[in-house]
Amino acid sequence: MSKIAFIGLGNMGRPMAENLVKAGHEVAGFDMAAASVQAFAKNGGIAARSTGEALADAEVVVTMLPAGPHVRGAYLDGEGILASARPGALMIDCSTIDVDSARAVAAAASDRGFAMIDAPVSGGTGGAAAATLTFMVGGPDAAVERANPYLAQMGKTIVHCGGAGTGQAAKICNNMILGISMAAVSEAFALAEKLGLDAQKLYDVSSKSSGQCWSLTTYCPTPGPVPTSPANRGYAPGFTADMMLKDLKLSQQAAQASGAVTPLGAEAMTVYQLLSAAGGGAKDFSVVLPYLAGRLCDFL
Ligand code: NAD
Repeated sequence: MSKIAFIGLGNMGRPMAENLVKAGHEVAGFDMAAASVQAFAKNGGIAARSTGEALADAEVVVTMLPAGPHVRGAYLDGEGILASARPGALMIDCSTIDVDSARAVAAAASDRGFAMIDAPVSGGTGGAAAATLTFMVGGPDAAVERANPYLAQMGKTIVHCGGAGTGQAAKICNNMILGISMAAVSEAFALAEKLGLDAQKLYDVSSKSSGQCWSLTTYCPTPGPVPTSPANRGYAPGFTADMMLKDLKLSQQAAQASGAVTPLGAEAMTVYQLLSAAGGGAKDFSVVLPYLAGRLCDFL
């Protein structure tokens, strides 16, 4: 059993932290939203009133925050994690952030003698609750070895991708595939509707044909064919369209900086920018289907 500080108890962080509690660890959680901390405490966690309080004596620090600036702030600020953590603590950042921020924070942690990994996840809120997440890990071998038992209690698949920042690189590439494939599947359902083809029939064909993909068979954007998908609950997230937009922007920044050619990633980013501007940003990202079909307002 370890003492763990968990910072960021949102849609993903709280179920992940609760799985560490279930595994027998003493987990102190902090979030800027007090309601999330209270909900965590109801499920066996220890409620902390600040990052500093959560860190007291923690051997392991896990962060699950929205974006790069939040992670830089949480680790690097004057009273942040690097200034307050117990010497030798292991740091695991599971947020999806830009590679540069991940490398800057890891370097600052290493300068202060802390072992740190970037370990963003895929698998969504369902995977977070069921402890079936996939972790994409970047960092030195020794730090990854220390982190593995904790990651295994929150997920099912752990891939060590290389040095600091490579977990984030894998995550950004994966989510560029996801953003493009969800837009593609949604365009197909919108076209089917115009052509008088029943959505279930398109699903029956494409789920067994070359159009098969995760966006279709696990997270289908039309209600009915996959009962667990957000389309069946009014597109409540899940993974918000704004989070997808954030990840597509990260992919395009990275593509520009590295000279990679990603025209479909750029198109998908534009689609999600328009969706967000139309008011759909807080909905699940699969709401792109009703957006393309001209029915977004039915869900706002
Ligand atoms: P979320 O907005 O639900 O949770 C983030 C939480 O961080 C919020 O509760 C917020 O109050 C808290 N927070 C922000 N700054 C803080 C600070 N300085 N100290 C303490 N708490 C702070 O987001 P989420 O859906 O849980 O996503 C978290 C990360 O995981 C993101 O980077 C996202 O891209 C990634 N991710 C999300 C999903 C998904 O399906 N939701 C899947 C894979 C990866």
